[in-house]
Amino acid sequence: MRTILLAHVKRVVIKIGSGVITDGDHLDLTRIATICEDVQQLRQRGYEVILVSSGAVAAGKADLNIIGRPQTIPLKQAAAAIGQSRLMRAYKDALHQHGLKAAQILLTRDDLANRRRYLNARNTLMTLLEYGIVPIINENDTVVVDEIRFGDNDNLSAMATNLVEAQLLIILSDVDGLYECDPRQNTEAQLISEVERITPDIEAMAGGEGTDLGTGGMGTKLKAAKRATLFGAGTAIINGRTPHNLIYLFDGHELGTYFLPARDPMAARKHWIAFTKKPRGKLFLDDGAYQAILERGKSLLPAGIKKLDGSFERGDAVRLCNIEGLEIAKGVTNYNSAELARILGKKTQEIEAILGYQYGDEVVHRDNLVLSS
Ligand code: GLU
Repeated sequence: MRTILLAHVKRVVIKIGSGVITDGDHLDLTRIATICEDVQQLRQRGYEVILVSSGAVAAGKADLNIIGRPQTIPLKQAAAAIGQSRLMRAYKDALHQHGLKAAQILLTRDDLANRRRYLNARNTLMTLLEYGIVPIINENDTVVVDEIRFGDNDNLSAMATNLVEAQLLIILSDVDGLYECDPRQNTEAQLISEVERITPDIEAMAGGEGTDLGTGGMGTKLKAAKRATLFGAGTAIINGRTPHNLIYLFDGHELGTYFLPARDPMAARKHWIAFTKKPRGKLFLDDGAYQAILERGKSLLPAGIKKLDGSFERGDAVRLCNIEGLEIAKGVTNYNSAELARILGKKTQEIEAILGYQYGDEVVHRDNLVLSS
């Protein structure tokens, strides 16, 4: 059954967790070699492969005498700076054994939240794929601060799936997949083989924290799966420590947990608005505008806005809320907060007279708006 689900897959993003390719303090070169062997196999079968790999912090921290998790952000960033080149070297050497070449892509959330940089990153990735190079993505740990962090590489891998428009995301983890309850606490815990939709019940199964090495636990993996499947990519969480699991998956074996792509996927741009672009402010709508957006598929006009919150520029994402502040949608605004403060509640025909110019009738056009679930 799985083989049929994989039938439409051409491009695949593979996320490799720290727990898979390190023993805590050092890179596990044997495991990296095995994964690269599988990558070569997949390439031979005609798939395009993009890797998102963690492991920089784990590979660098021993040089700073760090045991366990780095305790401060500068230490973590310094460890990543040391480890990232080691990580790339390990992939480069392992891929070289199979006649493949690697390219390093370091990203922050800010890079992808800016539409031009997003498109640039995308063009670079597409060019690499065209030339048969294997892109290896990681977060640019050295420069990130909280506001521009992806937070964890599970999230980054979901963004990357959208960025390259892959049809499949595979998360290689140090566990077998999603269990009904925590297998570390309950030995009877059952693995869930397939998930059609990520409901609150499924989310409740994910539990909490991950290991010392990576940032994510099952919760962040589920979030990533939710984002990727909404974009229309199936997502598999499988154990990456078991050699050649990647190939078994592609051979159609039912291992790990497979999340089916959403039946009505979002277009790439809408997905980007919903998940990658960070909202900078809030618009509070009156009842009429609220209904028009929620039920009648309309754009947001200035007349429907009662008040606003935050300071934002034209082109930023904003949250659209009802008057109580409950978010109903996210969208890209045509007017900045100062302009909006002057035209809110006004008729469309009045915009030009008030501002002396106008960017359009809509504050948020329907094409740039995504309803929140
Ligand atoms: N970027 C981090 C690293 O390379 C990993 C973050 C994560 O595992 O979520 O070590």
